[in-house]
Amino acid sequence: MTPLGLLVDSMTWRDAIEVALLALAVYGALRLLGKTRSAGVVRGLTLLVAIMFLVAQTIVAALELSVIGKVLDYLFTIGVLALVIIFQPELRRGLLVLGRYPLLRLFSQARPRAIADTLADAAGILSRQGVGALVVIERDESLEDLVENGTRVDAELSVPLLHSVFFKNSPLHDGAVIVRHSRLLAAGCQLPLGSPGEGLQHQHGMRHRAAQGVTEETDAIAMVVSEETGRISIAFEGRIEAVDRERVSRRLAECLASRASPAPARRSLVMPAPPRKDQSARGEG
Ligand code: ATP
Ligand code: MG
Repeated sequence: MTPLGLLVDSMTWRDAIEVALLALAVYGALRLLGKTRSAGVVRGLTLLVAIMFLVAQTIVAALELSVIGKVLDYLFTIGVLALVIIFQPELRRGLLVLGRYPLLRLFSQARPRAIADTLADAAGILSRQGVGALVVIERDESLEDLVENGTRVDAELSVPLLHSVFFKNSPLHDGAVIVRHSRLLAAGCQLPLGSPGEGLQHQHGMRHRAAQGVTEETDAIAMVVSEETGRISIAFEGRIEAVDRERVSRRLAECLASRASPAPARRSLVMPAPPRKDQSARGEG
């Protein structure tokens, strides 16, 4: 009989239940990780380790090598610990996703309406002053890649903070601000550019294209205040549209409350050339 046959023969219904529960736990963990960008690496590595472990265990069980069996057990424990340590940021992001489920959201700190109001108030002020702004609100998909190409701020979101970031001479006014829950996570971030069509008009320049681009590739919401016209636009699910000042808060809250629809075929977040005011103004602005 083959080693695998031996293993299957010696299996009881208790073992089968244990295997099924373990498989369920691994599936749940992978689904959580699936929401983050390194999911492919984690999945590949976990599969490889699991296969190697299974093969080794089968051989050990068939040949009754008890000492090697014990060593394998220790190695497995260490391996799981190492995976948790190596992929700690991904696991953290996966757990953050859990907080977005409606029932759990009841207990969480995020207050979508308050965030929408703060952003709408800031947009109103910036629009009246003719100050350009671009704000991206993270939802289920992590925007960590974009945060990393900007400057990490991680401060409580407020109207004065947004005002000072986008103030014309502020060193961080260029690029986008990223908001996660009620925190202003980063400023000066560079976004992928959107494709023409889908609400983008010829008078729209790089700022609007970037707003649309990030919502084409992720489930985020983007809000733009035009420096040229003072108009406020909101981009969601790859479409950008102008919104009256009084309706900004309501529209943002609507987008925040809506469940993410299945993502369109998303390109990877390939960064465009760094946004330079002079260069973009010369181009489409
Ligand atoms: P506005 O109506 O405010 O003029 P616009 O859509 O015409 O907006 P531009 O005039 O080209 O856009 O705006 C340029 C500004 O947009 C840059 O100074 C920069 O802050 C921002 N920007 C350009 N490209 C990007 C990008 N890829 N990611 C984030 N911000 C960008
Ligand atoms: Mg312009």
